[in-house]
Amino acid sequence: MQLPSSLLENAVNEFAKLPGIGKKTALRMVLHLLKQDINEVEYFSETLGRMRREIKFCQRCFNVSDADICSICANSQRKQHIICVVENIRDVIAIESTQQFNGTYHVLGGIISPLDGVGPDQLNIESLVHRIQKEQTEELIFALSPNIQGDTTIYYIQKKIQHLPCTVTTIARGIAFGGELEYADEMTLARSLANRLPVQQYVKS
Ligand SMILES: [Zn+2]
Repeated sequence: MQLPSSLLENAVNEFAKLPGIGKKTALRMVLHLLKQDINEVEYFSETLGRMRREIKFCQRCFNVSDADICSICANSQRKQHIICVVENIRDVIAIESTQQFNGTYHVLGGIISPLDGVGPDQLNIESLVHRIQKEQTEELIFALSPNIQGDTTIYYIQKKIQHLPCTVTTIARGIAFGGELEYADEMTLARSLANRLPVQQYVKS
C-alpha cells in the first residue's frame, strides 16, 4: 500500500498491529481520525496511554481493576466463598454479562499447555491454592475451555486441593444452543450425555 505521507503510514502500521485489523481497515480508521477535531484525537490517544499505564490487577483474583482489590472482590453482596476459575479477563466479562453468577473469580492468566510452553508455574495457580486455604472457600467452579488443555488444568488444580474441604464443580459442557447434534464432536456429545439433567429441571432453567 503506497501512502502519500510517512506520518499517515506510521499510524496505519500501528493500527494494523491490532488483532483482526488489516491494512485497509487500519487506513479507514486513520482517515476517520484525520477528520476529527485535534482535541478528540489527543483525548483518544491519552485514554489508551492512561489505560495501559494506570490499570491494576486485583491482588486477590487477578481481574483488571482500578484499585488494589477489584470491585467484585470488594463487593460484600457477592458470595466471597465461591470462586469461579477462568482462563482470562475476557471470560470474567462474558460470565458477568450473563448476570447469573454472584460469587468471585480467579483469573489464571492462561491454561496449562505444554506444547505452547505454558506450565503451571506461569499461571496464577499457587495463589489460588493459598486463597482456598486462607479463605476457606466452599466451592470452586471451573469455567475453562472444553478442550485437552482445559481438562489438564482442572486435573492439575484438583490434585493440589483435594485435601481441602472445598466442593469442586465444573460448568456443564453441552451442545451449543442452536447447534446440530450431528456436528458436535464426540467429546462434547459424551460430556453432554454424562451431564444430563432430568427433563423437569431442564425445562425450568
Ligand atoms: Zn478481585
